[in-house]
Amino acid sequence: MTTSSPLPDTADVPSFNTRTKTICPFCAVGCSLYLTCSNGIVTGVEPDFRSPVNEGCICIKGGHAWEFINREDRIRSPLVRIGDRFIPVSWEEAYRCIAEGFASFSANEIMLLGSGLCTNEDNYVLLKFAREVLGCEFALDKQKKAQNFAPQMAFSEISSASVILSLYDNILEEYPLLWRYIIEAQKKEAVFISADVRLTLTGRASDLFLQAYPLQREEILKALVNGDVSLAKQAGLSEDLIQKAHDMITKGRKKGSVLVFGPGYDIPEYKGFTFFPTFRECNTHGFLDIYGVPSTVVRDSSHCYALYMMGGNPVVSHFSTGGIKKHLKRFSFVVIQDLFITKATRHANVILPAASFAEKSGTFTNMEGRVQQIHSIQCSSAYDWAKPDWKIICELAQSMGFRDMFSYSSPQEIFEEIQENVSLYEGISWKDTQNPGGAFTGKGQKEHKPIFEKKVEKKSLQTPDLRYPLWLATGIGILHTMTRTGRSPGLFKEEGYIMMHSDDAKERGIYQGDTARVVSRYGQIVCAVRITREIKRGVTWMPAYFSKANPSLLTGNYTTVWVSRYEEK
Ligand code: SF4
Repeated sequence: MTTSSPLPDTADVPSFNTRTKTICPFCAVGCSLYLTCSNGIVTGVEPDFRSPVNEGCICIKGGHAWEFINREDRIRSPLVRIGDRFIPVSWEEAYRCIAEGFASFSANEIMLLGSGLCTNEDNYVLLKFAREVLGCEFALDKQKKAQNFAPQMAFSEISSASVILSLYDNILEEYPLLWRYIIEAQKKEAVFISADVRLTLTGRASDLFLQAYPLQREEILKALVNGDVSLAKQAGLSEDLIQKAHDMITKGRKKGSVLVFGPGYDIPEYKGFTFFPTFRECNTHGFLDIYGVPSTVVRDSSHCYALYMMGGNPVVSHFSTGGIKKHLKRFSFVVIQDLFITKATRHANVILPAASFAEKSGTFTNMEGRVQQIHSIQCSSAYDWAKPDWKIICELAQSMGFRDMFSYSSPQEIFEEIQENVSLYEGISWKDTQNPGGAFTGKGQKEHKPIFEKKVEKKSLQTPDLRYPLWLATGIGILHTMTRTGRSPGLFKEEGYIMMHSDDAKERGIYQGDTARVVSRYGQIVCAVRITREIKRGVTWMPAYFSKANPSLLTGNYTTVWVSRYEEK
């Protein structure tokens, strides 16, 4: 990798200051921001007062959303692996290596991973590449399934709910500006009930907080909505508390609607309730709209031996897929487009330097289903070692002989094709997405269907036993996979750790400042311990994003573990 300075030659760049309107890349709320450039490099962000999403507000994450752009460790040239080393090569040479690499595999032996961090246009072009250039069967299938994902409700509708439930979600830290709408609802006398294993800021702001064991969302809903006290033991809640929550919900239901927040797309069906899935990445909604099924490509990987990965760091983020790292080792040819060298790129044969959100244009669809444009900064020539993901794929496809199909000259042309092929985007013009607040998906759809695929995979959660007596839950809090947030000095101040209740720690002879060995039936890690009384007894919690103490090695959300004090020999 080259190590040249991030600062461009001042002769090559404009010396004036510029402001470019774009969308924050750090969560799926989709706040509108201005990136400020000075003397050719990005120097900060300012909130957009005209955006109906954030109305001039910005959270701490958004305020630091520019810092990673100027990092010296950005990948600055295509790299090809020769033995154990990566050698910088030209784009043409990199495309030639990729075409040759893919030539050894049949279409269905090649897996492609899009990303909720990339634009709709990036993801659409990747799917088209899979279908048209490689002929992958899964890509043909995806286009049909993608029609199932329907629009959700607007944030402004939250304030009309009478009861708001947050199940195992830390809204206040993970999606800070979404919180504004819940406060509005509380002001109008809505009750906010949250259930989680930890007392987080979200729990503190609730009208009723239920510190529960990890349960399926359907199970805890059943207990609260039906006042089913027989689930009290399983949930680790007192019968009185379940009854109290039930009474509050029943009273609220008489007055109006019930809204349930929860992480991810695996939304349960529950009559009379509106579910609002909270997506982590800035364009998870768009990703689902384009691909139809979020993680199938990972789950169906057993017959794949080549991988093309665009954005994201699944070694960290796919912590519930049985260890993507194990999968990555199995691929004999791996191509990765990214901004930085990550744990995943270590497994690559070819690495391509991708543009960050600041250096490309296109659209993100936020968790409401609102499609908004992002714009390349006016000083983007300072970062021209990187290319937008869609452009890289188009150039690769053209180098493989598919010139006409991938001859887009702008994201607008790709968006116009998305409109024709993804029914949720029908009727939205490029101009609509440029307006403050953009445009909602599903314009042409009659029904307001809030649910993605109704087929929810029911996984039975492991329960503690003598060998693994503690639950382990995971979450993200303020940081994500850390590929970008971990490179934002204003945000990254922590190290990986396991959080335990003080009584659980004491029983094991573990004290504040100690190191622990955490063992599950799938693996083990050593990490710092954070002792608190704010986590449910019998449950431990780990942030999912640290590469050194990453719970993906223990596999899955809500697994069970053995924790002991660790001393280095
Ligand atoms: S709430 Fe989310 S989108 Fe808005 S500024 Fe914060 S991180 Fe960015």
